Amino acid sequence: MTSESSSSFQAIVERENQYLLQTYARYPLAMVKGKGVYLWDTSGRKYLDLVGGLGVNALGHAHPRIVKTIREQSARVIHLSNLYYNEFQGSLAERLVKVSGLDRAFFSNSGTEAMEGALKLARLAGHHVGGEAKSRIVALEGSFHGRTFGAMSITGQDKYRKGFEPLLEPVTFVPLNDASALRSAITDETCAIVLETIQGEGGIRECSSEFLREARAAADRHQAALILDEIQCGLGRTGSFFAYQDAGVTPDIVTIAKPIAAGLPLGAFVARESFAREIGAGKHGTTFGGGPLTCRVALEYLAIIAEEGLLAQVQRVGAYMADQFRELQKKYGVIEETRGRGMIQAIQLKFPGRPIVDLGMQEAVLMNVTQEKVLRFLPAFLLEEKHVDKAVRVLKKGLRSLGKGQK
Ligand code: PLP
Repeated sequence: MTSESSSSFQAIVERENQYLLQTYARYPLAMVKGKGVYLWDTSGRKYLDLVGGLGVNALGHAHPRIVKTIREQSARVIHLSNLYYNEFQGSLAERLVKVSGLDRAFFSNSGTEAMEGALKLARLAGHHVGGEAKSRIVALEGSFHGRTFGAMSITGQDKYRKGFEPLLEPVTFVPLNDASALRSAITDETCAIVLETIQGEGGIRECSSEFLREARAAADRHQAALILDEIQCGLGRTGSFFAYQDAGVTPDIVTIAKPIAAGLPLGAFVARESFAREIGAGKHGTTFGGGPLTCRVALEYLAIIAEEGLLAQVQRVGAYMADQFRELQKKYGVIEETRGRGMIQAIQLKFPGRPIVDLGMQEAVLMNVTQEKVLRFLPAFLLEEKHVDKAVRVLKKGLRSLGKGQK
């Protein structure tokens, strides 16, 4: 680092330390620009980005078509409020409806808000069918759905809930892929079953196809909504547009966010008509959600995914990455398991992963650790085999040196 850039890094850190609520445990880097799968820090150092803005930057950084779209639309109109129609909200809803197999969309500003809306819709529909008693929610242990009271209430991890009680009641948590626990948790008072098709923050743990089918059948039996949270795993990340499509199960409501507007804040839930019709004017809304800029950028995101053949690339490079990770597991006893597919993968270690992340930063490869021992990879869909090779070289170095004596 030059002294000028290191002092600017220091200044950034000191300012944040003084003026921000200290809610984020940041890595010691400040990033100033990106291009494709690379990021640059304040010192001008270039990094391979395998974190992808926690699943947001599916098109990498500064994608020329996204930059052009933002430029054009911001010069026309950025925001209107939902008092007026805009040119793009309906078209985006149409695209999402067609690709999801569902019927109507609502646009929010984040994943958490998409979850809130989905829960509200499920409650309304539940009350319609079974009165106020039909309010119960079944969710999964180890899940993560966001930080508002509703989303936190269905998040099955104490570390996110503790200190904020009382939360929304009543929520029953069942273990992932435990079909019999799921069956016994659901009653006629259940209004929603909420699952991440692939648990992201929980460490890339997938609902099995059988479990999803069981959830679908149970929801139908009890007239409850099956809500699938695809905020992290959806919109192409697995190589399918939605992860649920691989299991042949369609939810009643799907929630999405992260990559949809290529880094601008936008979320959505898309619902089956039988649920969507339960909500009318004034029952839900937001000032920002579905504005012309975010919706036009999201339409461009969808067009780029299709026109640049990115789902095929995600499948191809994802399979290569999974193979390489499996090879690492064979070679290094400190890897417990490798999981995931496409551009959502994990290496579960037998020891805490932070030292590997630190080594990655030294070697200019950005990785992330979740659940303490899980290295999580959410790179851009633009990733190529050569980038995987680079990551694997760094991982080998880390696993060799840091794995010593840890078995
Ligand atoms: N649901 C899942 C599966 C997530 O991974 C996240 C965020 O990481 C959320 C919900 C919350 O989304 P947001 O942070 O956009 O509010």
